[in-house]
Amino acid sequence: MKDCIFCKIVAGEIPSAKVYEDEEMIVFKDIEPKANIHLLCVPKDHFALLTEMDEGRAALVARMLRTIAAKHAEWGLADGYRLVVNQGENAGQTVHHLHVHVLGGQTLPWD
Ligand code: AMP
Ligand code: ZN
Repeated sequence: MKDCIFCKIVAGEIPSAKVYEDEEMIVFKDIEPKANIHLLCVPKDHFALLTEMDEGRAALVARMLRTIAAKHAEWGLADGYRLVVNQGENAGQTVHHLHVHVLGGQTLPWD
């Protein structure tokens, strides 16, 4: 989608510190990390919100979670990680292209 920063990263128009890519998704380092390790798993298909998931997109999100589960140790997250999806304004979503935050590399505060 035009003017979407994550679509531009997917298209290679904006550089990113990529750690994984396949035909459906890309995983790269967050530019303003909120933990020692902070990755973003982004579907190549542009949609903004979990509430826009149809069956196909739900299956894609499931594959994103399975990819994170398969690769987490390679990414330095063998001791655990946290997944976050910010949905909408109250959650502070700033990029309106669905993404899963993958946080770890330290003990993560909960409150
Ligand atoms: P959210 O608040 O869930 O929409 O999170 C968007 C995230 O994207 C933030 O953590 C930003 O630091 C991150 N971000 C924005 N632009 C870039 C970029 N060009 N490369 C990597 N991460 C980015
Ligand atoms: Zn997009």
